[in-house]
Amino acid sequence: MVVAAFLVRGKETALIDMGYQSSADTIKGDLAKHGFGPDQLDYLLPTHVHLDHCGSLGTLAKTFTNASIRVHPKGERHLADPSTLWKGAAELFGEELMRKFGRPQPVDQKRLRKTADGDVIDLGNGVRLRTVWTPGHASHHLSYELEGHRAFFTGDAIGVCYPGFPILTPTTPPTSFNLEQTLKSLERIRATSPLDFYTPHYGLVGNATQWVHENVESLHRWKSSIQEMIKKGFGAEQISHALTDDRCNKLGRAGSEAPDYFRTLVKISVLGFIRYLEK
Ligand SMILES: [Zn+2]
Repeated sequence: MVVAAFLVRGKETALIDMGYQSSADTIKGDLAKHGFGPDQLDYLLPTHVHLDHCGSLGTLAKTFTNASIRVHPKGERHLADPSTLWKGAAELFGEELMRKFGRPQPVDQKRLRKTADGDVIDLGNGVRLRTVWTPGHASHHLSYELEGHRAFFTGDAIGVCYPGFPILTPTTPPTSFNLEQTLKSLERIRATSPLDFYTPHYGLVGNATQWVHENVESLHRWKSSIQEMIKKGFGAEQISHALTDDRCNKLGRAGSEAPDYFRTLVKISVLGFIRYLEK
């Protein structure tokens, strides 16, 4: 389990994040188990246009033809034409992983609706989602606050902590990662005094304010250790190894025990961090 999708139900229903293209059948199957057949979903809300969050959107849009699709203006063109997205990801992840992810289908432009910071989606029965622009991981990144519940669907505004390898790790990919913006977004989330986070990587996190604090700390620690290693002449690969080992040590495990998906996460995050520091 590396990426989660969340179904939010009022009178109407919204799906926040939807996994890779290869996740489409799982999502459809799980929705069917909850009684949602074709056309019975009202909103599709990708937090941002990375393949693990919106890869299945084009396929799902064809099944759920009534669903309104909301996206930040900067992400819109990538959903209508995912070719740039695909090319950029292929350079980072390589052929084998791209086959596993699956190639996203384009979304009909007419279905896409631009959303802005502060927009509210009223699902009825007192369930309201407020759109919160949380750039940093990506410039067009959106989170959703569940109003009145002190709960947040964070998307990748918050770091990763996989159930199979439960250690907090920043997600700071190229080309758009920006540390200042990430920290500002975290501060913005913290200012709402959240209790619960629903995170894509992975699941429910209680004690949300403490989790924000730990995220901020981990970003500062990464910044100084990556800067130090760059000064020593380390390349991206050496830095990734060192930080993977560091995370494994914190978990009380040997570096060799890190699963592939975790190594990939650290590698991509290190590349993004280095690129940001070079700017
Ligand atoms: Zn992402």
